[in-house]
Amino acid sequence: MDRSWMLISDRFSQPYVDGVNSFIEFAKAHLGEAREIKCPCINCCNFYKQEYDSVKAHLLISGMIVSYTTWLEHGELPEHNNLDESNGENDEDEDEYDELIEDYQRGNFMEGDTLEREDMLHVKVENRWSNKSFDKVLEIQRRFLPEGHVVPGSIYECKKLLRDLGLGYELIDACKHDCVLFWKENAHLEKCPTCQASRYRVNDSKGKKIPHKILRYFPLTPRLRRLYMSRKTAKDMRWHSDKRVDDGVGRHPADCKEWKEFDLHYPEFAQETRNVRLGLATDGFNPFGNMSTSYSMWPVILMPYNLPPWRCMKAPFFMMSLLIAGRNQLGTDIDVYLRPLIDELKELWENGVMTYDASTEQTFRMHAAVIKIGWVGHRAYLPDNHRQRKDKKFDGLTELRKKSLDLSVEKVMAQLDQLREVKSGKDPTNKKRPRESEELN
Ligand SMILES: [Zn+2]
Ligand SMILES: [Zn+2]
Repeated sequence: MDRSWMLISDRFSQPYVDGVNSFIEFAKAHLGEAREIKCPCINCCNFYKQEYDSVKAHLLISGMIVSYTTWLEHGELPEHNNLDESNGENDEDEDEYDELIEDYQRGNFMEGDTLEREDMLHVKVENRWSNKSFDKVLEIQRRFLPEGHVVPGSIYECKKLLRDLGLGYELIDACKHDCVLFWKENAHLEKCPTCQASRYRVNDSKGKKIPHKILRYFPLTPRLRRLYMSRKTAKDMRWHSDKRVDDGVGRHPADCKEWKEFDLHYPEFAQETRNVRLGLATDGFNPFGNMSTSYSMWPVILMPYNLPPWRCMKAPFFMMSLLIAGRNQLGTDIDVYLRPLIDELKELWENGVMTYDASTEQTFRMHAAVIKIGWVGHRAYLPDNHRQRKDKKFDGLTELRKKSLDLSVEKVMAQLDQLREVKSGKDPTNKKRPRESEELN
């Protein structure tokens, strides 16, 4: 049966709709009277069952997992695999070129293609192109490409594609003094429950509402799931246990004592090597490159440490989780903004989420954890005469400190226990309150 329709990007085109119908017919023919079947859309991932009509709607709205080429969950036997036949499974020597072709064949939902679009948006931002000029460049590019190309037609289409891929974001209003997010239990409030400040800057009789402050939140779960939708990346996510050589040299977080201690403490988590270990990084910067204005941005970025060293620190795998923008420095109030991420991480840690693994063509329950590795003052650990101690690229200073005492987990916890409850939010009168020693760690 021809399954090339699975690679069509326009899900409203007749061939795609016909393809979805053929899938539904296939499932009905093989699964007979079942009222609900597993849904192979990119959200249900053959884990959640739906009625036939819902499956059809999901496939038209969200799209089908492109790597689900053998419909094993819907009665097909393993041999009938028309997309994989030409590729074989020479996993060991699968090189970058094969990967490119594979991604190309697998079409629009896969990594390579997405990256192209992300790259395009990147070029736009870097060169400060207006939306209009960007649209013009796209138009010219499209004119020179052969028929069947997948270059989007406009900036609007680019953004829509990213949203469809699960790379979109949620907008969450925040109190202008950083006390709370208007989210979950506070979602319906019009005033901050802590400082009583109004949520909106504009709230007129015509129903127009403009909030003072907005947090952009990029849900993590769809991004983690996407790592397993490409066979190559899915395999690379197990690199830390499959391919890493333990020779006592530190090249990757998995070589560290902390990683191994984590495995000992949480053997269940460690046993499923596809569980994701994340690094988290954040820092404020001034997007206008003019340090005299007080505007600051705080991106919070996660990195999947499962990947091999040559991939885990590459931009395509940096996952922006939050973007906080505003006039003031955040200080400890960043906690308020981290909440959506923390809630999602707790869910991923405690319950996990069913995820389709393209490399094994099976679903598994994926858990995630943030691995705390702090690289604070790391140059103090270098030998006294090491050239990087004098390197001005770090903070402009020469590092003269010696290696500090190793702090045990117990000592760190004891210090943290002394921290008092910190009240979030700025004083509306803009007064600075001196901090007492117990508030400082
Ligand atoms: Zn579905
Ligand atoms: Zn407030």
